[in-house]
Amino acid sequence: MLLVEDDEDVAGTLQRVLKKEGYSVEWVATGQEAVTTALGSRPDVVVLDLGLPDMDGLDVCQELREQGYDGGILMVTARADELDRVLGLDYGADDYLAKPYGVAEMQARVRALARRSARRTPVGAPGSAPAPDATPAEAPAAAPAPVLGGVLRVDVPARRVWVDDEEVALTPKEFDVLALLHAEPGAVVSRDDLMTQVWDEHWFGSTKTLDVTVGRLRHKLTTAASTTEVVTVRGVGFRLENG
Ligand code: CA
Repeated sequence: MLLVEDDEDVAGTLQRVLKKEGYSVEWVATGQEAVTTALGSRPDVVVLDLGLPDMDGLDVCQELREQGYDGGILMVTARADELDRVLGLDYGADDYLAKPYGVAEMQARVRALARRSARRTPVGAPGSAPAPDATPAEAPAAAPAPVLGGVLRVDVPARRVWVDDEEVALTPKEFDVLALLHAEPGAVVSRDDLMTQVWDEHWFGSTKTLDVTVGRLRHKLTTAASTTEVVTVRGVGFRLENG
């Protein structure tokens, strides 16, 4: 994993803690180094402090996603107003942590992100991949459904999503949320289930991060003109609905 933190004391403590957990930790103190290092060594997880001397951490995050970095990004911020900026816009982070935070919480977040990163990168691709959705070249002419466009397709093994022929780029969290909802189209998935399965089994406190992720997912699907949308079931959770 890559630790981006300009405060040497904080970085030292975190490095010790994370190394004790068995992570190999690279540490950089500037945004520029963060971009270069993350794109070079492709760590599973980047822990990114937002207050850096040379670049805004949000720009670092955005730059990493634009350059195709697809590991987990955990943003760490010291300021409440900064947190609002993080939550209000899509910079491509998977999770965030507000300072001051407990070491145990940091460990839990990193662990969860690393686990998902590992899942995303299968060690060996199976020799006999299942055929993509069997859509015969000559579809039966009998009463075909009208094609309205905007058809959402979720390939869970490949972790890829398309609307018609257009691939939609999702962050790992956005994908996990969508995949869970898509597993049972139309069924409501509770907030608790989403938090437990997508974030951490030991999650506690605010579920704001869930709302932010769903908001971004919704925005991306809408932008891609998907006819399937994420519907909020107030007080319960979310479900997919075909428009
Ligand atoms: Ca800092």
